[in-house]
Amino acid sequence: MNKSKKLDFFSANYMRDFHCIGQACGEGNCCHGWQITIDESSFKKFKKIMEKTSEGREIFKGRIKKNRSNIKGEQSFASFVMNQKTGYCQFFDEQGLCEIHGNYGEEYLCNTCRAYPRKLNLFLDRQEYSGVLSCPEVARLCLLQKDSTDMQSADLQSFDLNGLYDSNTTKNPHSAYASYIHDIRNILNQFLSISDLPLSSRLFFICYLANRTAPFFNSGGQFTEEQLGIEVDRITTPEILGELHQGYQGLETDLQVPLQLIDAILTSKGQGSLPPALFQSVIETYGLAEIGQDSNSDNDISKILSLYALRRNKLQQRFNEKLDLVFTNFCKHHISSCPYTESTNLLLAMQALLARTTTAAFFLYSHTRLDPLIAEGAPGVTQEEAEKILDDVIVEVFYRFSRTLEHDKNIWDKVFCDTDKANLATFALLTQLLKFMD
Ligand code: SF4
Repeated sequence: MNKSKKLDFFSANYMRDFHCIGQACGEGNCCHGWQITIDESSFKKFKKIMEKTSEGREIFKGRIKKNRSNIKGEQSFASFVMNQKTGYCQFFDEQGLCEIHGNYGEEYLCNTCRAYPRKLNLFLDRQEYSGVLSCPEVARLCLLQKDSTDMQSADLQSFDLNGLYDSNTTKNPHSAYASYIHDIRNILNQFLSISDLPLSSRLFFICYLANRTAPFFNSGGQFTEEQLGIEVDRITTPEILGELHQGYQGLETDLQVPLQLIDAILTSKGQGSLPPALFQSVIETYGLAEIGQDSNSDNDISKILSLYALRRNKLQQRFNEKLDLVFTNFCKHHISSCPYTESTNLLLAMQALLARTTTAAFFLYSHTRLDPLIAEGAPGVTQEEAEKILDDVIVEVFYRFSRTLEHDKNIWDKVFCDTDKANLATFALLTQLLKFMD
């Protein structure tokens, strides 16, 4: 393994074709349905320019609120107050344009609005340009196309990086643990790219490697390159991969963790920014009168589980190639935008990835708009129409999931805190999550 030394600029393939589609986003428009944070410097600029007139003073008072939370940072100093009825930012006008941009110019846009949905990450010696899946257009380009998540060396000058700043996602970049980030990410991507095995087997290979390396390859550990090399060489032999694939496919496991995951997600409803549209689908699909008040009964949860498995199997049989592509792309996107160095070891990084993948799968396979594609023979729906419906639902589920659950630390903490109580080793937990997606 060689530590890279070259400073370079890379772009994810899907961002090369990205253009904001504006009003065509409809409800998915980024000026709608969530909290838009304002950095401290923009807040001061808004205050200064708006308070020049009495009308501006009223607008400032009614549409911008300082963040009173103790954990506010420079980038989340304040936020826009959304219109209670429409859910839109109050500066979003009837023509679908931003009044701040129109009245004061682009230089007055806050960091969030200027940068969204683009991201610039700094990984050791290289900058990577990517996007966030909470934008439906990014989700479409990233999830539905082959090789979309590949990072290619690119010419910095040919990208609009205006307003972007490096976000150094590599904690403690000089540690031995972080110094292998490019090598480790390459290995994970190679596993995910094996085209003739199911995604669950490919993810199992990564979990296995993560489990073997966790005792020594971690943020606090001392390790030698030789140790890491031995484990990587071992798992990349065809014989070991074949054995692991067979072993995983024959493995029977209970689904205690996925059940807890669903329960925790469903009972979190009402605690904040969860995706109501996706919950509505879950309620209708599983015939639940009400979810989210208290813990759901075991009956409810196992009823959900068996119907979920039925829907998932039917959809996977019919759209196997597309679904494999989407979830592979989602995993690759996660690995490149939330690097393993954010976790103490690879095993915990995989836990974060699989919890999110499993939850997204649950919302996707539970979506009511897929009912006509699940019904025997899918009466009245041509293959072309079915593909279009599936694409639309994929984009909707992932952008809504990304806007709400994906980065909600409280929910994931709750899930894994409950799991800890069950004393389940992380590797066993990951295997259960994989079986839930199968
Ligand atoms: S969500 Fe994405 S495509 Fe839609 S308006 Fe915002 S940046 Fe543009």
